[in-house]
Amino acid sequence: MARQSRGNRPNLNSVSSINPDGSRRFLRPAHVNGRFTRARTVVGLILLVITVILPWIDIGGYPAVLLDVPHRRFHLFGITLIAQDLWLSFFILSGLGFLLFIVTSLWGRIWCGWTCPHSLLLEQIFRRIERLVEGDAAKQRALDEAPWTSSKMMLRGIKHTLFLLVSLLLAHVFLSYFVPVEFLGKWILSSPVEHWDSFLLVAILTGLFYFNFSWFREQLCIVICPYGRLQSALIDDDSLIIGYDTRRGEPRGKPSDPANGHCIDCLRCVNVCPMGIDIRMGLQIECIGCAYCIDACDQVMDKLKRPRGLIRYDSLNGFAGNRRKLIRPRTFLYAGFLLIGGIVMTLSLFQLKPYHLSITRMSGPPFHRTETAVRNQFSVRLLNKTGQETALIIRAEADPLTQMSLKDPVSLKPYEETVLPLIVSVPTTQFRAPFEFHLTMTRPDGTIVSSRDLRFLGPDLDASTRELVFD
Ligand code: SF4
Ligand code: SF4
Repeated sequence: MARQSRGNRPNLNSVSSINPDGSRRFLRPAHVNGRFTRARTVVGLILLVITVILPWIDIGGYPAVLLDVPHRRFHLFGITLIAQDLWLSFFILSGLGFLLFIVTSLWGRIWCGWTCPHSLLLEQIFRRIERLVEGDAAKQRALDEAPWTSSKMMLRGIKHTLFLLVSLLLAHVFLSYFVPVEFLGKWILSSPVEHWDSFLLVAILTGLFYFNFSWFREQLCIVICPYGRLQSALIDDDSLIIGYDTRRGEPRGKPSDPANGHCIDCLRCVNVCPMGIDIRMGLQIECIGCAYCIDACDQVMDKLKRPRGLIRYDSLNGFAGNRRKLIRPRTFLYAGFLLIGGIVMTLSLFQLKPYHLSITRMSGPPFHRTETAVRNQFSVRLLNKTGQETALIIRAEADPLTQMSLKDPVSLKPYEETVLPLIVSVPTTQFRAPFEFHLTMTRPDGTIVSSRDLRFLGPDLDASTRELVFD
């Protein structure tokens, strides 16, 4: 790919990474160093370390984050959610969505530039490997255009081998959020034949990571990620964006001519852009807010002894010379939704119980009559949502003559679920009419952990004979 020349500049009608004939043009952004690049590196490395170590941190006997899909259990920082608690995910996901809305309306694409895993991995790992093996952008372009000599094959071979190894590592880091690390370790050490399904999964994930970071790259932001498309609806003239100060920069030209603005049209901001855009043409959907162009232009301004900030973080109002309003109606709206969702979710989390009890009447007749008793049959589902083995006792608060089949404590292993029949019976001689009774589930120490109100059904009483009527 040719370096951005004056005759080959980005334009607003097409993306720079696609040639006019539709083929891919591989971008080779120049490296830049500056205050924002350094700050992003620090933030990126901290986030990467956190991402890698989270599944290794033990909280209450489980990893800080473990999405145990086969067992439908989700361990999140000491809280365990089971399939029955999944309604909470609505509040978690909508809360994250509104958080993203607020952040975007205030600070534009700060997520993309500073915290998005795709950007972090591409910039902090894969591009670093590329520069280490092939050299800077100019050398990479020269290698692109060079014939396939043994030296080119060796350099490309080393680079792609390293890409594959990192992709393999990433696949395991990704899986460690779904499989406990000790199991993952056993899988790694055992033969692929023993765990062919997980081996296949790792192979597919490795292939996807490798494809994305070695070839697809910025196309993921442009073609697949929906956030860039949402951006135009989420930001307004007061949102913080990265932009070019047209009033200060134009007309572009030689610094020696006092009639010119501060932009010398050196194209440094274009050449460092990983998305291949020219920020001087205004805010564009491809811009991921990486701030490389700010650092690049600041360096040019430093050399020219002109103030920094020709390209800078500002709002569209700020670039137009107006005052930026931080708090706007949409900020209140998004914050309101976030607050409501947050309160509901917090209250719901406090309502989460360590044991689950559900009781349903068994199908068939509502009651049965034997020689001596009237019987109701229920199905009791018990679930231990804790990591400790426990015993649960089911008791009915009813007439002492009411008999229950579940007399002994039910022992449950950690996260064990069981379904048991419960037969409640009343001597026929004692039954006079259907009645309500209260069922409690207690721990051996007597603490009530759950309870239900049930109705005992039976035959009607004949008003004249005072006898029970059985149809
Ligand atoms: S225009 Fe600037 S901030 Fe936007 S992607 Fe390009 S280099 Fe990054
Ligand atoms: S780096 Fe600055 S001076 Fe150079 S072209 Fe970009 S905006 Fe103009």
